[in-house]
Amino acid sequence: MTDQHRHDTRLDQFVDSYSQRTNGMRVSAVRALFAVANRPEIVSLAGGMPNIKDLPLPAIGDSFAEMVAQHGMQVMQYGSGQGEPVIRERIVEVMALEGISAHPDDIAITAGSQQGLDLVTRIFCDPGDVVLAESPSYVGALGTFLSYEVEVVHVVSDENGIDPQALRETIARLKADGKRVKFLYTIPNFSNPAGVTQPLERRVEVAATCADAGVIVVEDNPYGLLALDAEPVPAIRSFDENVIYLGSFSKTFAPGFRVGWVLAPHAVREKLVLAQESATLCPPVFSQFAIANYLTHHDWQHQITVFKDMYRERRDTLLDALASEMPSGTSWTHPAGGFFVWVTLPEGLDTQAMLPRAVDARVAYVPGGAFYADGQGARNVRLSYCFPPPDRIRVGVERFADVVRHELEVMNTFGVRTGHPLPGTRRPAGPGPELT
Ligand code: PMP
Repeated sequence: MTDQHRHDTRLDQFVDSYSQRTNGMRVSAVRALFAVANRPEIVSLAGGMPNIKDLPLPAIGDSFAEMVAQHGMQVMQYGSGQGEPVIRERIVEVMALEGISAHPDDIAITAGSQQGLDLVTRIFCDPGDVVLAESPSYVGALGTFLSYEVEVVHVVSDENGIDPQALRETIARLKADGKRVKFLYTIPNFSNPAGVTQPLERRVEVAATCADAGVIVVEDNPYGLLALDAEPVPAIRSFDENVIYLGSFSKTFAPGFRVGWVLAPHAVREKLVLAQESATLCPPVFSQFAIANYLTHHDWQHQITVFKDMYRERRDTLLDALASEMPSGTSWTHPAGGFFVWVTLPEGLDTQAMLPRAVDARVAYVPGGAFYADGQGARNVRLSYCFPPPDRIRVGVERFADVVRHELEVMNTFGVRTGHPLPGTRRPAGPGPELT
């Protein structure tokens, strides 16, 4: 620390030293919410944590203990920068369930698919490059793109995901403006946050449009095996080998291991491994062996059906409660899997401004603006059904609907948008708008 740093009385004495790219780093709205949403009196429909309560922990613990006793010297040592062959071989089998045929050598293991997103952005994007994303898109991916000083452009999307016509027009417009469009980031299955799924015809059209325009497709698929109503739609990667595909064990097993993967064409995979080596030397070896052990010694496919039964009941409860409680003029998506429902409130409501009042009413959600890089989403919220038990979900929706009704009354009575509180209006106790 320099003398100048030592005597500096500014709040952050390092403020002049940070790199430009830290300007793009934002506090995750979801993370900031956890502090409040975890209070027991609050029904949190905010966080998207997988619900791992049904995992057979004693049995898993026993097989891990055996693994350490027999192979401790290997599983606690440094490993391959690409990831261990034993887990890459099993991942090929996991992906086959979604129609993907691949070779273990085409896989790079990452610390969760979040690190996959980071490495993919790192090897493809220079500051000012454009990444296309759904409208809305995953907040964690937006954070990664912005931290690499990438310009995120949202493509108009509907209840079937990206609109191919809008995709064509957006790419043409950006190219005419001289922009370099690097890739399309898409979550075709049960997207976070919209809860929508691209049908096969749309996947084909989106992939063909990108191929024609020379835009890479990055397919992020952490929820694909959590299809609650029907068989999963084949992944884009199943019919287009140029796609860069991100997978994860966070939702089908447990997120704490931090094991995900990238399946990529050979040359890209080599660059990813170089980037991984500079980031971490090698992905966590213990976790990779632990997951390989779980996949070998436990009926993991049955466990996924147990998870699905639990999520299905919660999804149905949330949708029923929305149907019976929400005021007219409100709409929401009907997810066929995953964790999330995307709600659209009447024009004029501001879900960011409304959040403190919702927390005061003991319900939490994530305001829609978190899922856009360009300020859209003011009247949207993401509701997650993965964590609270069904009776709490129902209570949460009742509280949420009350808050919305009250906001509408205020808006209709005073003719103001709720984002601009009337002078002298009491702001309820609780966290302020800095929450996101
Ligand atoms: N992609 C999407 C769409 C997600 O929802 C998440 C987690 N919420 C991730 C990637 C990251 O997951 P992980 O790093 O745990 O694999």
